[in-house]
Amino acid sequence: MTSPFAKTLTAWYLNNARDLPWRRTKDPYKIWISEIMLQQTTVSAVIPYFEKWIQKFPDVQTLARAPIQEILAQWQGLGYYNRARNLHRSAQIIVDEHESRIPSGPDIVRKLPGFGPYTTGAVLSIAFDKKLSIIDANVRRVVMRILSIEGEADTKHDKRVLEYLLTVLPEKGVGDFNQGLMELGALVCRSKEPVCVQCPVSKFCLAYKEGRQELIPTPKKRIVKDINAVIAVIEHKGKYFIQKRPSKGLLADLWEFPGGKIEADETPKEALIREVQEELGISPKSVKHLFDVQHFYTQFRVKLSVWRFDPIDIVPTRKDRKWLNPIDFNKYPMPSGSAKIVEKIFKKSS
Ligand code: SF4
Repeated sequence: MTSPFAKTLTAWYLNNARDLPWRRTKDPYKIWISEIMLQQTTVSAVIPYFEKWIQKFPDVQTLARAPIQEILAQWQGLGYYNRARNLHRSAQIIVDEHESRIPSGPDIVRKLPGFGPYTTGAVLSIAFDKKLSIIDANVRRVVMRILSIEGEADTKHDKRVLEYLLTVLPEKGVGDFNQGLMELGALVCRSKEPVCVQCPVSKFCLAYKEGRQELIPTPKKRIVKDINAVIAVIEHKGKYFIQKRPSKGLLADLWEFPGGKIEADETPKEALIREVQEELGISPKSVKHLFDVQHFYTQFRVKLSVWRFDPIDIVPTRKDRKWLNPIDFNKYPMPSGSAKIVEKIFKKSS
């Protein structure tokens, strides 16, 4: 029997769901792509990425065959490039080992790169109506309020959250129920100022009854580290120099301008000259400060001091070093900070 909570929530979802491109299909491939993209940014930011991605890689075979550089370039701006690499690897496994079909068994899917419990539950419940619960930030917050669980919205509460979900999960229409919970968290049971008067499940909500919905969960204290770095924009005959990062570690395989961290005892100009000398072995004829760019990552804030660097010697091209015409920048995936610099340079010079 469907629980009263599931009945109420699902009915609300079916009447109130936003019309989003990935909700117009049951194609597990498209649902998978949308779920991975949605893990890092807002729905409105994902829509254009999703549409471009589906145009370029309409199915799992096309994705499996595509060169990784093309995939990373398409992902540029979404961050967390490892997720794009996992999409590629999983697509190749699905093509090679599962006849190009995303399997519907959770145990098999969980073995694919990038399929944690959330992604597995989301894709399989939405595409195949598998009876699986999912917990993301929205679901965790909603259930913490329903049960009036105190504390920060932390994964340590997930055991209780999951226990509750298993008592209310319907037999059929699991995908709509799961999406309903997430949609409720996004639109109504928002982290700040939940709109309880419009909430379809307020009669099940303990925090609302107690008037404590604004106090649950407690806001997280975030430690943000500041990083100051210099960037060298080297131009020669209308072309710009970029280099590829190593294949392992932070921002692996992405392209960027030369530069690096400013040490405690250095001015930005000193750091610029040292970094370029260390990385490329060249000295400047002249340098000029252009502008500063800030970029926020989850755990740190980067301030990039961007300089024009006119070198005495020209660095030769090689596999991991390129001189680019401005129109070719979009073919080379870059970290978000570098992409912001490109945008600023060409906006200024256009
Ligand atoms: S009543 Fe308020 S706090 Fe409770 S689930 Fe609904 S929106 Fe969230």
